[in-house]
Amino acid sequence: MEASAVRRAALQCILFPLLTSAALPSAHAYCFTSSCGQEQPICEPAENEPCGVALRWKRECVGYAIQQNGTASLSLTDIQVSVRSAFDAWSLAGCETGDYPGIDVIDMGLVSCNKAEFNESAGNVNVVTFLDDSWPYPDNGEALALTTVTYANKSGEILDADIEVNTAMFKLTVAETTKDYDLTGVLTHEAGHFYGMAHSLDQESTMHGDALPGSTDLRSLTLDDTSGICTLYPSKTINYEACNPLPIHGFASECAAEQWKESCSVAPSAAGHAPPTWWRSWAVAAGLGAAIWARRAQRRKRIPKPVINPDRLRPTSRSNAMSLDGR
Ligand SMILES: [Zn+2]
Repeated sequence: MEASAVRRAALQCILFPLLTSAALPSAHAYCFTSSCGQEQPICEPAENEPCGVALRWKRECVGYAIQQNGTASLSLTDIQVSVRSAFDAWSLAGCETGDYPGIDVIDMGLVSCNKAEFNESAGNVNVVTFLDDSWPYPDNGEALALTTVTYANKSGEILDADIEVNTAMFKLTVAETTKDYDLTGVLTHEAGHFYGMAHSLDQESTMHGDALPGSTDLRSLTLDDTSGICTLYPSKTINYEACNPLPIHGFASECAAEQWKESCSVAPSAAGHAPPTWWRSWAVAAGLGAAIWARRAQRRKRIPKPVINPDRLRPTSRSNAMSLDGR
């Protein structure tokens, strides 16, 4: 039954922990999540009969926010750096054209909503949230994280994407020398799903779908990952003055239930009183200018110059691999 003009379905994709480094056959095959579901990805080279269209954001700029409570074991600053690094791994990937993928993500700050949800009639937020208390999904608590993508069935346009991290069952860290699971690596994999990537058959790739404790390998994209994101979002010059990172129906810090509660509790005022979601959207839009400009300067600075920020330095080995491949 179609309840509205927007057709949508939810995709859930999970990153499972890998306890041992088993030797699996490797293949070069990045995949995109398909509108036919996660069981029928669109892969290159093709694995099965193509079905549906690849999911992707249609806009050049997409916003994300972090749930304000974070997780008990990490500082908010560490979380913010980790999330930023995870998204940057994809949006600052070096395409063969010498440029970046034609999409960027904008940090919208901290929000109160802690649910993976899409609201057809209320404000939205693409949230990264940590589930410290319990993991409510039927996977025996074995998943490290889960990304839920909502998209339009016909066009494959991604409308909303939320990342949940299973801190109830796993200890995740941002330290590089530890036996725990690497938060930045896990988030980099989930960020791939956020953009529309599906699991790859290349066991070395970040999108392979499993993680080793004590390893930071997932932080760095492989050639397979980079080829995928650059195909899904061909390089283009992003017009930061025009691009709009606000979600459909506007940006909202609160989940839908709280938005309705607030809306109902607002005392009636003059005729034409705007719903809370609308004025929040405009307030956020006005406040985003600095962030957008800072982001634009960052990307411009990186294009003609060598990387100077160690936090964003791509591994030398991967750079070599890309130049040697020459496809
Ligand atoms: Zn996954």
